[in-house]
Amino acid sequence: MNRILRGMDRGQNFRFFLADTTELTKEMKEIHQLSETATAALGRTAAISAIMASMMKNLRDKITIQVQGNGPAGRLILVASSTGGIKATVDHPEIELPLKSNGKLDVGGYVGREGQMIIIRDFGLKEPYIGRSNLISGEIAEDFTYYFATSEQQPSVVNLGVLFNKDGEVEIAGGIVIQTMPDIPEKVLVQLEKDVASMPSFTKAAQESADPKERLAVLLPSFELDFMDEMPVFWECDCSRERMEQALLALGEEELKTLLEEDDSTEMHCHFCNTDYHFSREDLLGLIQEVNG
Ligand SMILES: [Zn+2]
Repeated sequence: MNRILRGMDRGQNFRFFLADTTELTKEMKEIHQLSETATAALGRTAAISAIMASMMKNLRDKITIQVQGNGPAGRLILVASSTGGIKATVDHPEIELPLKSNGKLDVGGYVGREGQMIIIRDFGLKEPYIGRSNLISGEIAEDFTYYFATSEQQPSVVNLGVLFNKDGEVEIAGGIVIQTMPDIPEKVLVQLEKDVASMPSFTKAAQESADPKERLAVLLPSFELDFMDEMPVFWECDCSRERMEQALLALGEEELKTLLEEDDSTEMHCHFCNTDYHFSREDLLGLIQEVNG
């Protein structure tokens, strides 16, 4: 089962969020027919989206993350809820790029090294909280480290990864975020910085063991770490025929009549789960009647 494990070091000087999102990433690859580079981009962003959703407190809180770089990916959009449901889409899922000279997938090239991220937190209030941040490299982890530091004044370590097997299937996806408490003693901070400086990639640590405690021991060898709780993570799209009807009704009578004259029927498409909803001539006539109420 995919999940976010939350915990702290024994001295309660920093907190950590460990994400296992392998199954979710496999599912996204399948739904959107993602290239490997697109899978890595969306997979990394899904891991951090799930982690940020797990930081929210109320059941109906939602976070939307948009990554708009100047690369061929176009826009990535992810929506995650504090109960663990997550949906994602990208404008150009099929595009594959050559590997970088170090043999790694060129996520920064795909997303683009310049651009913006928009982070929208919806707490169910009138106005959502909107944060913006520039992209640093388009590699996602660095971009979020920068976002946390500048927009939230929260020093954070962000280590995300997606690993493929020889057959091009997702083997591991997830990541870790570490955030220090404001009153962390200097000695502990120095030790933490040492661990972080020699920290392996998330996928490398994950390859050594499937056990979260053992993974953490590889990532942060100098600390005693305690798990506090966990949040499940799963693919969930909340689209429905009713929602699509509402969207059509919102077009108004004139627009609906135009649709009817042009095509006799219409398709509504959900970009998150790629479901098509067909509305026949009779359906459209029914909706026009409903508008006239
Ligand atoms: Zn959908």
